[in-house]
Parts: sequence; structure tokens; C-alpha cells
Amino acid sequence: MTTSSDRPPLPRTTTGARAPLPLTLLPRAPLLLALLALALLLLLAGCAPGAIGTVFQEPRAAGATPESLAPPGSAELGPADPAPAPAPAPPSDEPAIDLAAHSITDPTSPWVVVNKGRPLDPAFEPDLTTVRGYLVQPAAAPDLTALLAAADADGVHLTLRSAYRAYAKQAQVYEGWVAQLGAAEADKVSARPGHSEHQTGLGVDVGSSTQAGCDFEKCFGETVEGRWVAEHAAAFGFVVRYTPQNSAVTGYAAEAWHLRWVGRELAAYMRDTGVTTLEEVFDVPGGGYAR
Ligand SMILES: [Zn+2]
Repeated sequence: MTTSSDRPPLPRTTTGARAPLPLTLLPRAPLLLALLALALLLLLAGCAPGAIGTVFQEPRAAGATPESLAPPGSAELGPADPAPAPAPAPPSDEPAIDLAAHSITDPTSPWVVVNKGRPLDPAFEPDLTTVRGYLVQPAAAPDLTALLAAADADGVHLTLRSAYRAYAKQAQVYEGWVAQLGAAEADKVSARPGHSEHQTGLGVDVGSSTQAGCDFEKCFGETVEGRWVAEHAAAFGFVVRYTPQNSAVTGYAAEAWHLRWVGRELAAYMRDTGVTTLEEVFDVPGGGYAR
């Protein structure tokens, strides 16, 4: 009967008295030990750069930014570094604003939302004052004056082309477009009376005194004045109300020249959040006419 325990000790066994090394191997033992020691040294040396580097850098990392210490391509050192405490996150990425601070239905409010689904009372007429010969609500006048002055200072030839428009006047404008284009096309480019921001005295149309051929035209957006307005209007409390990107929301084709005064706080909020429509800011419907 043969079992595993009956097998004789293997000559290759290197431990234990039961398997003494053959005499022929003994002289090699110091060599083997030396090789083992060398291998161990090499192993340690191979680990050394990373291990030492990591340990050595840790105290410095505590007082400097990771970018200033980490050499290019040394991302593998990252996990060994102590994770810096994350900066406390701000409560919100959005600037603080109280969106209930002003009415969106009162036509004298800077935040009133007028669109194809939110008409004004035909009888509504705001208080008005004059800026460079054009009528606007008094609340909008200082910012409009400042906007035009800033454009002047920048050598930008911005002009006013239209501002307050009474209900009856808007009716004339709209009927003129209907006569020219038909009702369907007119609705894309002109508000029906009662649906125009111009009736509030908070909307203005600007133009270029050097490229007047683009006034009220798509190419206004490419003029020096059109680009300046797109960049700077918000700083003065105005928004470019109708853009190519938000037509489905506003219900109107793009008008790079139509500015709506909303006040500097809301204009900055819309600029900083990238929300370009009052409809989205206040979560009210936009789009086309119901009929
Ligand atoms: Zn306009």
C-alpha cells in the first residue's frame, strides 16, 4: 500500500532535518544567499523612487497646490497623495435672486412678461419719459441713457430707432406687415396689438448710424453695434429678447435689435445662468398665438 506519506523525502527539499542538502550543493549556498540578497536589494531599489518620492512629497503637498508639485505624467502618484479636503461648495452655482421680487403681470413692473399668450390691456398706457427723443418708462430711462453713453464712449454708433408704441400704433404696424406678408408671416415678425413689449415702454429697438441698412434686419447682429449690444446690454439691465436660439420659446423670430429692459439684477442673472427668455426664468408659457 502506497500513500503520499510513504513517499521518501524529495532531494530538492531545502528545509528540515529530514532532507539534508546534498553535500554537492553546500558550497553553492553562500552564492544563493548572495543572489537572494541582491534580488532583494534590486526589488527595494525598484520601489524606492515611488515610495520615497511619495513620502518625501507629502509634507510639501500640504502647503501647495497639487498642480505646483505634481510633475507632468505623474498621475500615478495621485492616489498615494493625501486627498486635499475639497473646497466647500457654494450653496448654488446660480446667483442669488428673488424671482418673486417683482410682478410678471403688472405692465409697470420691470419683469412683466408679454408674449403671444400674455396680452396687455389695450387701454394700458405707461408713464413715459424721453431718452434721445424716444419715449420709455421712467424706470428704464437711466439704464438706457447709460447704455447709449457707454456705446458712445466705445466708439460704437448705436442709435435708438423705436421705443414706446401705443396699442393703436402697434395695430397700424401689425396691419402693415399683414398687408405686406400675409397674416401667417406677419405673426413671425410683428406682434399683434396688445402683444408687443413696445406698449409697455420697456422695449426699444436700436440701430447703427453707420450701417443703417441693417437696421431691423438680420444683419444688424453682425454689425459692430449689434455685437456690442449682445455683449454689453446685460450690464445696463437690458436683454436681447429674441435670439435665433430661443424663437420657439418666445414665439418670435430673432431680433438682434430689440432690447427689453428688465433691470440690472435680472439681466445679470440671465446672463450668468444662460437662461435667455423671461418665459423660462418665470416658468410661463411662450410660443405662438392660441389662434
Ligand atoms: Zn422691438
